[in-house]
Amino acid sequence: MTELNVSKLQIEHVSVNTASEFNGFHIKFLVDNQLFQFLVGQGTSLIPFGIKHVFTEKQACQICNKTINAVPIGQQICSVLQSHREALLSYFKTNYADLLQH
Ligand SMILES: [Zn+2]
Repeated sequence: MTELNVSKLQIEHVSVNTASEFNGFHIKFLVDNQLFQFLVGQGTSLIPFGIKHVFTEKQACQICNKTINAVPIGQQICSVLQSHREALLSYFKTNYADLLQH
């Protein structure tokens, strides 16, 4: 498993949309120009679900090193980001609190 320091990730172009298929949010963000989607559930608190690759062309993920197909077929979980989902959610709650509200 690749070591990852979430606080050192260059997270850019964050956008948050209210999910239609469950109670929560889709958070999209770029890391090194690669797009990821973080599904976050909204209960009494925010619950981190999955973090998927959203690549427009087949390429290697710079975080997990797996070769990922373009969307929609390549939309699979990024295992490294997934293992840090609690830290990532803390990051978004701290830095994008205004976006994570209904
Ligand atoms: Zn990945």
